[in-house]
Amino acid sequence: LARKHGYSWTKAQGLRAGVPSIGVIEPPSNVKSTDTVYDVIVVGAGYCGLTAARDASLAGLKVLLLEARDRIGGRSWSSNIEGYPYEMGGTWVYWGQANVWREIARYGMQDELEISYDFSRGINKYLLSTPQGVQTFSHEEEDALMQSSLAKLVNVDGCHGRTVVPFPHSGVLSPEARKYDHMSVADRIAEIKNDLTPNERLCAEAFVLLCSGGTLETTSFYEFLHWWALSGYSYEGCIDYLVKYKFRGGQSSFAIRFFREALASGNLSYSFNSPVATVQHGGESVQITTRAGKIFRGTKMICAIPLNVLNDVKFDPPLATGRKAAATTGHVNQCVKVHAEISDRDLRSFTGISYPHNGLIYGFGDGTTPAGNTHVVAFGGQHNHFHPEENVEHTKAAFEGFAPMNIERLVFHNWSKDEFAKGAWFFPAPGLISTHLKDMRARECNIVFACSDWALGWRSFIDGAIEEGTRAAITVRADFAGRSKL
Ligand code: FAD
Repeated sequence: LARKHGYSWTKAQGLRAGVPSIGVIEPPSNVKSTDTVYDVIVVGAGYCGLTAARDASLAGLKVLLLEARDRIGGRSWSSNIEGYPYEMGGTWVYWGQANVWREIARYGMQDELEISYDFSRGINKYLLSTPQGVQTFSHEEEDALMQSSLAKLVNVDGCHGRTVVPFPHSGVLSPEARKYDHMSVADRIAEIKNDLTPNERLCAEAFVLLCSGGTLETTSFYEFLHWWALSGYSYEGCIDYLVKYKFRGGQSSFAIRFFREALASGNLSYSFNSPVATVQHGGESVQITTRAGKIFRGTKMICAIPLNVLNDVKFDPPLATGRKAAATTGHVNQCVKVHAEISDRDLRSFTGISYPHNGLIYGFGDGTTPAGNTHVVAFGGQHNHFHPEENVEHTKAAFEGFAPMNIERLVFHNWSKDEFAKGAWFFPAPGLISTHLKDMRARECNIVFACSDWALGWRSFIDGAIEEGTRAAITVRADFAGRSKL
C-alpha cells in the first residue's frame, strides 16, 4: 500500500506523513504508444472521471484516463490502518441518492454499508460545548433542538423552503432562489436572531458550518436551502442523506469497481502520476501535455478537474470568460476532517458541537476499531481554520473541545494544501451559483466540463460526481453518433 498522502500521529511514532491508500493503481500506466489518437481523453479519476471513462469505454470509444495522483477517487479516498478503514474525504452515501444507488446496485454492494452511529452505550449523549461550559442532552433532545433550529433557519416561505427550491434536481433558479443565493447564512441569521434561542442559534450555525466548511458570511443561503431540499426538507433527512451510511470496506472499495469495469472493456488506456499542464484544442482535436512533457492526442476531452484547480491548467484557446471567473472565485469549503482513535470506549455513542471557540465544530463516535477503541470523526472549516499537521497538540486539544479523551491515534488529509483539490467538497459563497452555474456546465468546442462541483442535484457529493460523469459520457457518445442528444 502506497503511503504518499495524508498524515497519522500516534504516541509511539509521532506525526508521520503518508498513510496507506487502498486506491493506488499498479502499474501506474498501461499506455503503450503516444502515437494513438484517442476518441476521448478523460482528465481526472475522481468519481466523475471514473464514471465518464467507464461509460465511454463500454460504449466502444477508445478512452485515455489521465490522473495527476497515483490513485483513483480524487476527493474520496480511504486509508486502512491495522484493518480499519479511515475515510479521508467523501464517506456517506444513501439510497435516496439516485445516481449513487444505481451504481451500488450495479456492483451488488447493497449489503456492504454500515451505520456510523451506535446510540447504545456509555456517554450516550449530545454534548453542546461553548466557552461558558458543556450542556448535556439526550439524542432525542438533540434531534428536537436541531429540528427546531433548522426549521426556523429555512422557513422563509411558511413551507420550510419548499416553494424556494421546489425541484432540487433542477438547475433553474427562480427570482426568489436567486435572492437567497445573494444572501449569506450570516444575513439570514441576522433576520431571525430574535426568534432563535441561544442554543438554537449555536446548533443552526454549527450545522451550517459543517455543511459549508466556510464561514457564515461566505456560505450561500440558497445552497444551504438546496441541501435541505435534497434531504427531503427535514433534519431527519439531513442525517440519513449526509452522515449515516458508509461502506464497511471504505469508499475506495466502491471506486475501484468503476475502474475495473472500464478496464475489462478493453478500451481503456490510463496513466496515473500524470498531472496535466496544458490543453490545446480546436475543431476536432485536442492535444494534452503533462507536466512531465508527455503529449497525448484525442478527438474529444472530458475535463473532470475540480473548480478550485481549473485555473492551474493552461487552456489554449483560454477558458471562456464566465468559467474562468468562476474558477478564480472558487468555492469556499476548507473543511478540516480529522479522525481520532481513542481508548475511551464510553464515547462511542456521543455526538457533539464545540462552537464558536473551537477549531473542530462537529464530532461524533463513528466506529469501533479492531483494538476495541472508539473512532471519533470531527469537522472544522474556515471558521477557526487550522492545519492539523502543523501543531498536533492544537489538534488534540480541538478534539478535547468535545469531551476529555485519551487520543491514541490521529488520521487525516489536509485538503486545503492538496494541490489537486485546494479545498474539500464544493460550497459556494453568495452569488456564485446564480452568476456562474451555467458557465461552469457549458461545453467549449470539443471539451465537456464535468464535475461534482457543478452537478444539478447532489452538487458537492459523490452522487453529483456520478451524475456529471454520466452526462459527460452521454454527451460525447452523442457527438460520435452525430446527434445533439442520444
Ligand atoms: P474529484 O474527486 O476532485 O476528482 C478530480 C480528479 O482530478 C482528482 O483525482 C484530481 O487529482 C484530478 N486532477 C486535478 N487536477 C488535475 C490535473 N491538472 N491533471 C490531472 N488530474 C487532475 N461526498 C459525499 O457524497 N458524501 C460525503 O460524506 C462526503 N464527504 C466529504 C468529505 C471531505 C473531507 C471531502 C473532501 C469531500 C466529501 N464529499 C462527500 C464530496 C465528494 O468527495 C466529492 O464531491 C466527489 O468525490 C468529487 O468527485 P469529482 O470526480 O467531481 O472530483
